[in-house]
Amino acid sequence: MVILGGTAEGRRLAAALEGRAVLSLAGRTADPLTVGATRRGGFGGVAGMVAHLREHAVEAVLDATHPFAADISRNAVAACAEAGVPLLRVVRPGWAGHPLAATWRWVGSHAEAAAVAAGDGRTVLLTVGRQHTVDYVDALRERRVVARVADGTGLTVPAGWELLTSRGPFTAEGERALFREHGVGVLVTKDAGGPMTDAKLTVAHEEGCLVVVLRRPHLPPAEEVHSVEEALAWVAHLPTPS
Ligand code: NAP
Repeated sequence: MVILGGTAEGRRLAAALEGRAVLSLAGRTADPLTVGATRRGGFGGVAGMVAHLREHAVEAVLDATHPFAADISRNAVAACAEAGVPLLRVVRPGWAGHPLAATWRWVGSHAEAAAVAAGDGRTVLLTVGRQHTVDYVDALRERRVVARVADGTGLTVPAGWELLTSRGPFTAEGERALFREHGVGVLVTKDAGGPMTDAKLTVAHEEGCLVVVLRRPHLPPAEEVHSVEEALAWVAHLPTPS
């Protein structure tokens, strides 16, 4: 079985399925958190994933990638269909159902998020991941920005910005201290979902911040569950590997 990971859910699945699964990571993080048998690096698109599934006689794929890792999830749908391998998407519920969701400014792209943040004069807390932090540089170059990423390898930011490296989970106390220390007035985040990084949403509301939330990318349909426990129940119903 292959677990497409890079998330806490992927690591939990890898721990529960140790001996039966290989955790696949993109290989972007210099010092990744991992559990059990692991492979690193892309497959080489859909064709590469199909070849991998066939070569290793993979019994099933659990796509536990981040909800914003859309390319790998799309590839998994296409490759599993072509190779005839069962696929389950394990995706944590988004924050659209959060009690504060109606108070946020929902946007469809990083360009739109950057423009909205730039339209507010206050300090911006940017929590959009290393790859997309650069999308905000032009719009926010002269602004006070705190950019928080899990891994800052290779990321350079304008002189006036502060780069914080931290993986979470984040507590409300810690977030409150951060917001107050930097006088954060605007929070930009993706709809990552889940409880590990949601404290900032409550604190941003308390502190009277503008909250800008990126909508999740659309994905092709796939069988989907919303928790590790449901995924393990699905695995339990797979035919026993010979
Ligand atoms: P992406 O844009 O969907 O994927 C780009 C390419 O990276 C894929 O086409 C694939 O290359 C390779 N790839 C991605 N995830 C892989 C995996 N788990 N195993 C093997 N190859 C993988 O992905 P991304 O947004 O750059 O995210 C990369 C990884 O970071 C994912 O595993 C994701 O779970 C994790 N992550 C992403 C975010 C986020 O906000 N995007 C946040 C936290 C963690 P090939 O086409 O060559 O196979």
